[in-house]
Amino acid sequence: MLNIVLFGPPGAGKGTQSLNLMEKYSLVHLSTGDILRGEVSAKTELGLKAKALMDTGNLVPDEIVIGMINNKLEDNKSAKGFIFDGFPRTQAQAEALDDLLKEKSTSISKMLALAVNDAELIKRLLLRGKDSGRADDANEEIITNRINNYNNQTAPLIDFYKAQNKFVAIDGVGSLEEISGRLSEAIDA
Ligand code: ADP
Repeated sequence: MLNIVLFGPPGAGKGTQSLNLMEKYSLVHLSTGDILRGEVSAKTELGLKAKALMDTGNLVPDEIVIGMINNKLEDNKSAKGFIFDGFPRTQAQAEALDDLLKEKSTSISKMLALAVNDAELIKRLLLRGKDSGRADDANEEIITNRINNYNNQTAPLIDFYKAQNKFVAIDGVGSLEEISGRLSEAIDA
């Protein structure tokens, strides 16, 4: 199986690039952000709990997202592999993912980390906010909170995957084609 963690700060382009990779390598795309937004629009109990945290740019509790990923792995038993987008975001999530994959006799192949500077991230997210309707893209204060949460809670996972020799840094600034080329090159290497 080919199991890719597509990593990077909010606005790095994980969602856009995931769609390319999903087609090119026939992988199942699992975005915890998309799954959570689905729960919010369906007004499920989980969605109601998650909404306030998401709208202010804070992480939802680990057990919620780990449970969601577990369900999706179960639903896609015949998948050739997965792209994890926006997951894991904490040490507990990364450890849980390793355990879940181990139960299925597989593991993460690579962690591809898109690197984009903060000024570019803020610019992209404010632009997206103009038509995404996402409350967390609407103002710079919330965007900065998301970037700070990324730096504090999520960026340390780079060391987690480095220790497993799975970390690959990818320059996330350039055209969509350039970036997808860099990602494919790293996967094929
Ligand atoms: P972005 O990468 O642009 O922040 P996402 O769609 O990945 O967008 O995430 C949106 C929000 O959903 C996050 O700010 C957070 O509140 C919640 N979320 C998504 N994935 C996770 C996760 N793995 N752990 C905790 N919260 C998450």
